[in-house]
Amino acid sequence: MRAYERFLKYVNIDTTADSASNTCPSSPNQLILAAELVKEMKEMGIADARVDEYGYVYGSIPASIEGAPTIGLIAHMDTAEDAPASPMNAHIVENYQGGDLVMDEEGKNILRQSEYPMLGNYIGHDLIITDGNTLLGADDKAGIAEIMTFAEKALNTPGLKHGKIAIGFTPDEEIGRGPDHFDYAGFGADFAYTLDGGPLPEIECENFNAASAAIEITGVSTHPGGAKNRMKNAALIAVELINMMPPAERPEHTAGYEGFYHLIGMSGSVEKAKVYYIIRDHDMTKFLARKAFVERSVAYLNEKYGENTIKLELKDSYFNMLEAMKPNMHVMTRAEEAIRKIGFEPRRRAIRGGTDGATLTNNGLPCPNLPTGGMFAHGRRECICIQEMDKIVEMIEKIICED
Ligand SMILES: [Zn+2]
Repeated sequence: MRAYERFLKYVNIDTTADSASNTCPSSPNQLILAAELVKEMKEMGIADARVDEYGYVYGSIPASIEGAPTIGLIAHMDTAEDAPASPMNAHIVENYQGGDLVMDEEGKNILRQSEYPMLGNYIGHDLIITDGNTLLGADDKAGIAEIMTFAEKALNTPGLKHGKIAIGFTPDEEIGRGPDHFDYAGFGADFAYTLDGGPLPEIECENFNAASAAIEITGVSTHPGGAKNRMKNAALIAVELINMMPPAERPEHTAGYEGFYHLIGMSGSVEKAKVYYIIRDHDMTKFLARKAFVERSVAYLNEKYGENTIKLELKDSYFNMLEAMKPNMHVMTRAEEAIRKIGFEPRRRAIRGGTDGATLTNNGLPCPNLPTGGMFAHGRRECICIQEMDKIVEMIEKIICED
């Protein structure tokens, strides 16, 4: 079976993560996909395939030679909350000829090459898109499909030389909880790769340091007619705080290695206001300085409006994996050689976000991020090239198997 055929099955299970839930997995359908994957793994001959109480799927393929490392392959089962994942109308556009693609029957949703120039790389290839009303879920069901397709090949091709192959499918990556219950010891890999990136040939071992700031402002409400020297307007204090954050250091004005403060939500009345920020920077020194700046700003306003007017809860979310990767760069070069073997020149890229692999790497399991071929993730224009999925299965083989 080719990777895209499996992929088209998986996208029909709506596994949208639910950040409001405290359970793991956060949404019940992730367990349905997990059960489907275990069934498929068992059918192809992965005897130890299993799903644990948190919905993590594990399985392994025994080594065919001695002395080779145990390499892990990881992808995540959930999809982002940013766009709906059902009703899914994924379909294939054969032999893409460039230009705009009408996604739905009514002709309302259009995938425009002018907006997504990367499409130009896929002329003559087959693409999978949705009807433009949902995301596709190539992030990260493409990764799952590619790992499963390679696993099937590894089990059915005598003569492939490889160490033990550890497979792991995790829930809730999109809400930052992917590694929370990861069974490092049971997984048992010397190093691993997440297949959770974009198109070939980009490979990633750097990501943001990330924190969130939840800010609660308590005001004093009085009748406006008699408010003089009495009222403390929490909503206005929230606006004041927001205006203290550097306007040029927002996601919409930054790129590459530039960090940011991102206002992700606010609500407010005279009595109570809430402001939520996320803080991001690749550089640890700058990251710490950003957090300190938010603390200083809150302290300044507390001094101005009275102690405990503002409560700040700063929480780290994840850290850049680069420092922990540095002593393990052979894991990167192994993947880069594999990408060359399938005819591409690898390119290192710093993720402007997080990845499960960051936490895994920082916890002692070196785990860079590999391409899946998926494009325009988290949105209704998400798509993937079928032939690129085949190439990525080849790439996995070149990483895992010795010559
Ligand atoms: Zn992903």
